[in-house]
Amino acid sequence: MFAESTRHIESYYACRNAQSGALPERPALTGDYHADVLVVGAGFSGLHTALRLALAGRRVAVVEASRVAWAASGRNGGQALLGWSCDMPPLEQALGVAGARQLWDSMRWAAAEVRELPTRHGFDIDYRPGSLWAAVRRSRVAMLETARDEAAQKWGYERLRVIAEPEMPEWIGSRRYRAALYDPEAGHLDPLKLALGLADAIERAGGAIFEQSRVLAYRETPGGYVANTRGGTVRAGALVLACNAYIDRLDSDLASRLLPVGTWQIATHRLDPALAGSLLPRNSCVIDNQFVPDYFRLSPDDRLLFGGACTYLGGIPKDIGAAIRPSLERAFPQLRGIEFEYAWGGHIDISIRRTPDVGHERDRYWLQGFSGHGILPTLAAARAVADAILGEPHLLSLYERIHNPRFPGGERFAAPLEALGKLWYRLRDVV
Ligand SMILES: Cc1cc2nc3c(=O)[nH]c(=O)nc-3n(C[C@H](O)[C@H](O)[C@H](O)COP(=O)(O)OP(=O)(O)OC[C@H]3O[C@@H](n4cnc5c(N)ncnc54)[C@H](O)[C@@H]3O)c2cc1C
Repeated sequence: MFAESTRHIESYYACRNAQSGALPERPALTGDYHADVLVVGAGFSGLHTALRLALAGRRVAVVEASRVAWAASGRNGGQALLGWSCDMPPLEQALGVAGARQLWDSMRWAAAEVRELPTRHGFDIDYRPGSLWAAVRRSRVAMLETARDEAAQKWGYERLRVIAEPEMPEWIGSRRYRAALYDPEAGHLDPLKLALGLADAIERAGGAIFEQSRVLAYRETPGGYVANTRGGTVRAGALVLACNAYIDRLDSDLASRLLPVGTWQIATHRLDPALAGSLLPRNSCVIDNQFVPDYFRLSPDDRLLFGGACTYLGGIPKDIGAAIRPSLERAFPQLRGIEFEYAWGGHIDISIRRTPDVGHERDRYWLQGFSGHGILPTLAAARAVADAILGEPHLLSLYERIHNPRFPGGERFAAPLEALGKLWYRLRDVV
């Protein structure tokens, strides 16, 4: 069982937003509260769902164990990339080309929506357009060309462009990368600002958000659901579980299909703007196509944010900086010895095939299984769940055709078994 917290961890985002006075505290739930929909968890999954429902006139309560975006949504790499962690093959297998194409179209919708939401609701997320999927190994350059051609032919997406090796210095100031796939509809942003902006918009639309209010248990009643926190009770017609890697014992069935995996990143101190500009001349965000990818981008105040590794055994290293430094210096030898000002970690919700696990049973809905790639996928899934609650179940029915099995090994052995299974793929990054 995870411990809730009264404070955000000391990430670059939390410190920056605290300095500008943008981290308001919200009250805990006390007494009895009645809502049309109860959303458990104030990360992107819960907040996007709640905002759509509140804007449609539903009385919504969001109940959060710690603080708004205390977990992955407030700590991530800020790379808003199109697609799912599993890529398209398992979606095509489950839904056929036509069904998978509809999910893909909803992903493009999410990419446009994340750009437009801040303007619509009057907040800023420091959005910068453009992402690169970069090949380290020459043998994996062909993968980029295949992805570009398949996106055009199967998914009707013709905007991807392969950057060949001679052009790479114009994009990344590193000799490590052989080629890259550029996506102009992806981009990068401050994730905590996005979550805080959504929370504000929910409240302005009439929704309520309670912090420091972990839901301890829920039960179904003839009229809907009753959920209990330490200080109060919410009664609602529908329940949305958006707890991600922290679902824990609140719902053992959902928990059995997830493995909480630890992952981490750093932010350097502020770089000279000319040096920062030389690392990423076009200010795109970058993720490589190794099995355990490095990912990085610049912040608006000229820091390099760099992340990558993860552990299937769930822990986070004591010295995150020391764990990340070799990868960062391998990508950018010119930064050897650079100081890191922030280092932090978080948990992601791996599903066994990295496929999204989004569905419903009567009036209980869930969104999970984003497997470490969730900024745009949570928004696409939240639309499916909110639409279904509002009477339009088509998108949700697509997600429900994707089978998400339980992890073998149960609570005790699932993590070591998965770690062992992935060792082979890690080795393929180096041999
Ligand atoms: C270090 C890191 C880097 C990442 N980088 C990227 C990236 O660059 N791009 C990308 O697309 N994705 C990235 N991700 C993944 C992405 O952040 C997640 O997929 C996404 O934020 C998931 O959102 P969520 O709302 O489902 O979960 P979360 O943000 O984890 O929110 C779940 C919330 O539920 C609350 N909760 C749980 N149980 C209860 C309960 N019983 N009662 C009340 N509240 C409860 C938790 O406190 C938490 O706030 C990264 C993740 C991490 C950790």
